[in-house]
Amino acid sequence: MIFDSHAHYDDEQFDADREQLLSHMKKEGVGTIINVGASLEGCKRSVELTEQYPFIFAAVGVHPDETGELNEETFAWVEQLLDNGKVVAVGEIGLDYHWDIQPREVQKKWFIRQLELARKHNLPVCIHSRDAADDTLHVMKEHAQGLSGVIHCFSYSPEFAREYVKMGFYIGVGGVVTFKNGKKLKQVVKETPLERLLLETDCPYLAPEPYRGKRNCSIYLHQVAQEIARLKDVDVRTVVDVTRENARKLFGINAKENLKEKI
Ligand SMILES: [Zn+2]
Ligand SMILES: [Zn+2]
Repeated sequence: MIFDSHAHYDDEQFDADREQLLSHMKKEGVGTIINVGASLEGCKRSVELTEQYPFIFAAVGVHPDETGELNEETFAWVEQLLDNGKVVAVGEIGLDYHWDIQPREVQKKWFIRQLELARKHNLPVCIHSRDAADDTLHVMKEHAQGLSGVIHCFSYSPEFAREYVKMGFYIGVGGVVTFKNGKKLKQVVKETPLERLLLETDCPYLAPEPYRGKRNCSIYLHQVAQEIARLKDVDVRTVVDVTRENARKLFGINAKENLKEKI
């Protein structure tokens, strides 16, 4: 069974058929999904999804583009959500210099505050980083030593991947690895041990080939696993099994009962 380590089923693109789609996951070979909050509303809806579906767990945190929503009061509200037994990570948090929607200093401030929050609650982090390779690594080296987590939708060079693996982090790989222009990520996958990779959709975005441009969903991770298998010259079953065990270990989810382990 596939483990999707990063999805946004709270997105309005799933409003019309969310229930139908999620009810098919088991049958399609998808066993567990982490629904990741990006905004305050997204955090709330992620937790709601975990109440509806036993196989969905949540990460809560505020995306760099949305850090304008954060103040001491809303930050305290996010922290309260971490007490929920099905919230297994802080995320997605990080830096996004591609859109530069929030001033970089504001992004950095809340990135650091949320890393500290993860440390306080002994939770892993889901890191979002786009066009901000140097600053993200710098912040992580200063504030994320000893933490665990995943650099989701990894878009940097193999050198950066090596740095994160050295720090004990995982590399999140999704649809981009199937793209013809996904050369850099293909190289990262080749060079990174399978024991350090996680599968992720980031759905509804970034559908793999041959669905590129369409709405993404966890079922399409079979295509991603296949491409990783090809790049690493192992069978697809191995990719699915190893990445699932990686994710279970990182998020502390018990294999048999699909329950969060007591930590
Ligand atoms: Zn992201
Ligand atoms: Zn995301």
